[in-house]
Amino acid sequence: AKATTSRSGHHVFTFTDDIHGDSRLRMLEDLRRAFVTDELVLHYQPKVELGTGHVHGVEALVRWQHPTRGLLPPDAFLPTAEGAGLMRELTRIVLGKALDQAVAWRAEGRPLAVAVNMSASSLIEADLPERISAMVQVRGLAPSDLMLEITEDFLMEDRARAREILWRLRESGIRIAVDDFGTGYSSLAYLRDLPIDELKLDKSFVFPMADDTRAAALVASIVELAHSLGVRMVAEGVEDAIAYAELVADGCDEAQGFYISRPLPAAALDSWFRARQVALAPMN
Ligand code: C2E
Ligand code: MG
Ligand code: MG
Ligand code: MG
Repeated sequence: AKATTSRSGHHVFTFTDDIHGDSRLRMLEDLRRAFVTDELVLHYQPKVELGTGHVHGVEALVRWQHPTRGLLPPDAFLPTAEGAGLMRELTRIVLGKALDQAVAWRAEGRPLAVAVNMSASSLIEADLPERISAMVQVRGLAPSDLMLEITEDFLMEDRARAREILWRLRESGIRIAVDDFGTGYSSLAYLRDLPIDELKLDKSFVFPMADDTRAAALVASIVELAHSLGVRMVAEGVEDAIAYAELVADGCDEAQGFYISRPLPAAALDSWFRARQVALAPMN
């Protein structure tokens, strides 16, 4: 669909089909309804501590259970949500669901921390740290039960603002991870001055580890640098035993990927835990 601005300043939408055969406006109306009718669902992907095999935390990944189009991945609707200014609301819904799930896991004796992906547009919400702290507190969770995954873009766009927001989050005890690390333009020297708990090394560094020794050497040196800054390193996109073993050898702290588990609905993750009989230990 095409949006133009009329002389009155209102947006005028023209109906044109996108590649999915569904107009953008239709998608937008669908998405607004989906919020109300509770069609967003979260899948959870475990992060495994490489030294011990323990799972302390999971990443929450949003999907849309669309009534006619089936289960849609985030790439299919997040850009629309972002473009329409719906990300803050989406983020609030996701945070609520993820924290509710953390409470449910606790009640089952499984104290997992949840990580939630944060768009830059959600992070700059003025009272975000207070708002999130309240969401955590009202559920009786500890702030450290929640990790926020932010992108390098957010850190680099407005450094002063990003720094302020991160420090306010740190003061409230919420933990911070930098997602897709290595794909943006941040440097470790810059990150050193920020309260970051975890770097999530992007998949593109991990994929070639299995058949390229230079790729493995590069990952090893990034892990070493992260450790010299006192930051934990998590590898994303671990798809095979070779990459997994390399990461163990490199001293990487945690791994996440299809080799360990795909993102799963909470009930399926439960079965995964039972099948694997993972020994649980509280974080730190
Ligand atoms: P991300 O945060 O980097 O999440 C990791 C993505 O990699 C997920 O895709 C996950 O399914 C996929 N993945 C995990 N392990 C492997 C693997 O071994 N191999 C491969 N090929 N892929 C793997 P997903 O769920 O489609 O999410 C895509 C992106 O959408 C996320 O990337 C994140 O940037 C965004 N996203 C997801 N949920 C949310 C949300 O609730 N809020 C916001 N703002 N963004 C979200
Ligand atoms: Mg993420
Ligand atoms: Mg990532
Ligand atoms: Mg990503």
